[in-house]
Amino acid sequence: MQKAEKKETLALYRDRNVQILLSKFLSGELEMLEPVYDPKTGYHYPVVEAIVGEASKVEPFLSKLHAAGILEKKLYDKIIFCPKCSSADVSVHYCCPFCKSFNIQKSSLIEHVKCGYMDLEENFLEGDKYVCPKCHEALKKIDVDYKKAGIWCICEDCSKSFDIPVPAHFCRNCHTNSTFEEALIKDVYSYTLTENVKAESFLNWFLVAAIREFLIKGGLTVESPALLKGKSGANHSFDIMAYIGDDPQKMIVVDLATSTEDVVSEQPVIALFAKIFDVSPERAYLIAIPKLSENGKKMAELYKIRAIEAENQEEAIASLKESLNTV
Ligand SMILES: [Zn+2]
Ligand SMILES: [Zn+2]
Ligand SMILES: [Zn+2]
Repeated sequence: MQKAEKKETLALYRDRNVQILLSKFLSGELEMLEPVYDPKTGYHYPVVEAIVGEASKVEPFLSKLHAAGILEKKLYDKIIFCPKCSSADVSVHYCCPFCKSFNIQKSSLIEHVKCGYMDLEENFLEGDKYVCPKCHEALKKIDVDYKKAGIWCICEDCSKSFDIPVPAHFCRNCHTNSTFEEALIKDVYSYTLTENVKAESFLNWFLVAAIREFLIKGGLTVESPALLKGKSGANHSFDIMAYIGDDPQKMIVVDLATSTEDVVSEQPVIALFAKIFDVSPERAYLIAIPKLSENGKKMAELYKIRAIEAENQEEAIASLKESLNTV
């Protein structure tokens, strides 16, 4: 099951549109993919629209990446659509629960602490001061002399009063009123790249592609990923295999290892050693992002594996170049 998921994820990494979106995240151009509000159509993602071409393809594209564990989503907003015309240009009306009119006045209830009298805020107002209408004392300090005791609404149409209004929706496009029960409400999300994918995708194609390009430019024959048969008859896979001219005997192999924590453990060193023991390349490189553990370094030296530590793509290529030039 997990293997199938992994395979699907790898297929996604090869998708050109996925690569473009991920490169925006990995380069830092995009930290979070946030929807942009349009009063007529609701939320949309212009960045993704530009990649996939059609607005209708955006949602399936993002859901696919979320389902594959590449993108993480977070609830950003809820959008209300008119049930009649599907417009997102919908306003909220707070209505009278008795006659459903939205012509209501909202007011605060105030309580005079000393005498216990409670009434609407406007009945306490004398000019710009509060004076108790019952005992005529001036109220100075909130929570000492007086308290705000809640909200009180009065319906201008039926004159009834209530504390909790009923919400309703008004479509500014077709002027239809709809209730909460009738409303079409849709979740809108913002997206970020999952932490492990940041590292994984960097490994999977960014760095490999960059190194492959660098080696090809240097006149080497490159295979990536490469499946090589060892002396034992077993096949071993390497991230990159390259050789100069037409002499496969002078082969170099490169594996990449990355860690979302601080250091890469000795595990990839051991794995690479087991493979090169069987395949016997001229040289073997392990590129560790960002660092290799002390134990890993010792083992690499013992196994004659050239370990390269790099914070990023540029550093990795610069070190590899330097190492290839010193025969
Ligand atoms: Zn409408
Ligand atoms: Zn009313
Ligand atoms: Zn009073």
